[in-house]
Amino acid sequence: MAGKPPTGDPVQDAPDVSAPQHAAAGLPAIGHTLRIAREQMGVRRTALTLLKVNQKDGFDCPGCAWPEPDKRHAAEFCENGAKAVAEEATLRRVTPDFFAAHPVADLADRSGYWLGQQGRLTTPMYLAEGAERYEPVSWERAFDIVGEELTALASPDEAVFYTSGRTSNEAAFLYQLFAREFGTNNLPDCSNMCHESSGSALSETIGIGKGSVLLEDLHQADLIIVAGQNPGTNHPRMLSALEKAKRGGARIITVNPLPEAGLERFKNPQNARGLAGAGTALTDLFLQIRLGGDQALFRLLNKLVLETEGAVDTAFVAEHTHGFEEFAAAARAADWDETLHATGLAREEIEAALRMVLASRRTIVCWAMGLTQHKHAVPTIKEVVNFLLLRGNIGRPGAGVCPVRGHSNVQGDRTMGIFERPAPAFLDALEKEFDFAPPRAHGLDVVRAIRALRDGQAKVFFAMGGNFVAATPDTDVTEAAIRRARLTVHVSTKLNRSHVITGARALILPTLGRTERDRQDGGDQFVTVEDSMGMVHASRGRLAPASPHLLSEPAIVCRLARRVLGTASRTPWEEFEKDYGTIRDRIARVVPGFEDFNARVARPGGFTLPHAPRDSRRFPTATGKANFTAAAVEYPRVPEGRLLLQTLRSHDQYNTTIYGLDDRYRGIKNGRRVVLLHPDDARDHGLADGVYVDLVSEWTDGSERRAPGFRVVHYPTARGCAAAYYPETNVLVPLDHTADTSNTPASKSVVIRIEQPTDRND
Ligand code: SF4
Repeated sequence: MAGKPPTGDPVQDAPDVSAPQHAAAGLPAIGHTLRIAREQMGVRRTALTLLKVNQKDGFDCPGCAWPEPDKRHAAEFCENGAKAVAEEATLRRVTPDFFAAHPVADLADRSGYWLGQQGRLTTPMYLAEGAERYEPVSWERAFDIVGEELTALASPDEAVFYTSGRTSNEAAFLYQLFAREFGTNNLPDCSNMCHESSGSALSETIGIGKGSVLLEDLHQADLIIVAGQNPGTNHPRMLSALEKAKRGGARIITVNPLPEAGLERFKNPQNARGLAGAGTALTDLFLQIRLGGDQALFRLLNKLVLETEGAVDTAFVAEHTHGFEEFAAAARAADWDETLHATGLAREEIEAALRMVLASRRTIVCWAMGLTQHKHAVPTIKEVVNFLLLRGNIGRPGAGVCPVRGHSNVQGDRTMGIFERPAPAFLDALEKEFDFAPPRAHGLDVVRAIRALRDGQAKVFFAMGGNFVAATPDTDVTEAAIRRARLTVHVSTKLNRSHVITGARALILPTLGRTERDRQDGGDQFVTVEDSMGMVHASRGRLAPASPHLLSEPAIVCRLARRVLGTASRTPWEEFEKDYGTIRDRIARVVPGFEDFNARVARPGGFTLPHAPRDSRRFPTATGKANFTAAAVEYPRVPEGRLLLQTLRSHDQYNTTIYGLDDRYRGIKNGRRVVLLHPDDARDHGLADGVYVDLVSEWTDGSERRAPGFRVVHYPTARGCAAAYYPETNVLVPLDHTADTSNTPASKSVVIRIEQPTDRND
């Protein structure tokens, strides 16, 4: 029998600290995985469930968006995937009795970890205006409540429809259709907070906001640069691909402020060398860059490539690109001294990187939030594109851009039209297929939605999954904004903080998870997802649902649409709910690349979406070519006596979900309020390892934000750069501190000062 959830809240702020590790996975990962899975699911369910993760006849891992290889291993999951599955397939249940015992004010005092550990939601719950507790409510009444509030709005644009990256293609397509038939493009999503910068930069430069490599490309590359990414924790099975690439002769450059165990050495639990041996050393060259120095680094590398005879792929540049001269003039002006200052690197390190770049015929650059969450994230990623274009590294096997997505269907949701700024062609197709006039004005992204709620311009907040208040910046401002709403609604599998920070009225609508059988009037259904490399495949759950009262996400949207839109909608919502194949037929007619969707997704492993730059070196940009760009180089300026903070995840964490209180690879156990500081920086600030401090962020408007009670950990991070976990540090990031163009919160470059209160350290 699986263990009971914790009754008290065990979150401590006195973590144990030991030396960081230098290898990831191996036997400890297996032991950890099995322990967590057994605690949540019991032995039999663990075996039955984990063997179906990421299999062609199984369900898609609800963790990250890393793709599966065509040939699957029996255990095709990683430690973090197993944790995500265990949390969903848990035997723990949150019943109406739980809500009767816990007023909302009590739940609001609990940690996110404690809330998540209570188990699966089982019944629709309603918090009436002025009530202290959620109470059970029928689905019909729940839809009536949403309908009452939506139809009372002065304008459809007073509603916000948020989506998290777990939502399937089918549910996402219906959800955006419902929002647009209702009359708004207010469709913010978690992409706004992660890879929006990648989408903005790639759309402008190569014409499509998605990566250009497939898994086979990684295996064939000569050189892989992993910049601002920690795959050992955030996309663990990427390490298998890097291992395979290394065995094929690839070299790896890691560009990151922190050394990360997963990029040092990988002990693959799927083979004997990984289990019993030393594993595989992955990184050949570690560039321990200062936070935000990446654009300067790539700009200088570009200058050095330009100055090396024969290094530029002149045929590719001439035939396929635009804007070379202007870019080349800017790159030639790059300055060594300024680059060394911006990056914190030594000249020899950059020269070593250049030698590896020049020796490579096929280069891939992978990145994640370490590049996307800076004020100058978009020009940084454009500089990466310049770097790849210079040597013809887009549209060639073993080469390309590889933004690695962090939630299982975040890329698919955007493909399905979850976007506040939809392309006119998409709206035209929607209009033609469904015979209504979609709104054309742009809607609200995440940051703008919070402002609208804060200012009383948005009054209904509906979230299809996710944990909005924990994922977003400026926690106090965001929570106050949400509390101003008339109604907040969350379609969820598990309890989280967003359920306890509510509008005047609130609903929790419990839904099926990926692991569960989805039976509708038309028979058993499956859904589809798109991974980080544009591969679309089916996901079928097998477990009995956690409760008979759950509805699937597509069913929730269909019933809500029927209640809210009534006879004004000509869309066959009832038919969609019965048979998801009918939704896919419509997707096939609206979304390019999904032609013959039902037949192609029925093939084991699914199909790959077209990608013109990758497939045929065609670039659907405004110029019809791949665009070089020549933005000014930027990097964060840090005043004397201050440090630059990045927010990051622990190893026992997936996005905002906290699975446990350890960060094994970094040597942190049993606590989360830590700040990692270079020992020399700590010494300069008079901070011994183990003292407790407050982190205070300072802003040009004179405002300050404070996160109290963090234990100092001396850690080998880049000089001048601190690190601490989110969501605990989201409070330090103002709503307006966002990346230019993409509006992504710039959570990787927060200037802080550190204060040492005397009381805590007496
Ligand atoms: S790498 Fe990502 S998708 Fe794969 S099993 Fe791990 S968490 Fe799941």
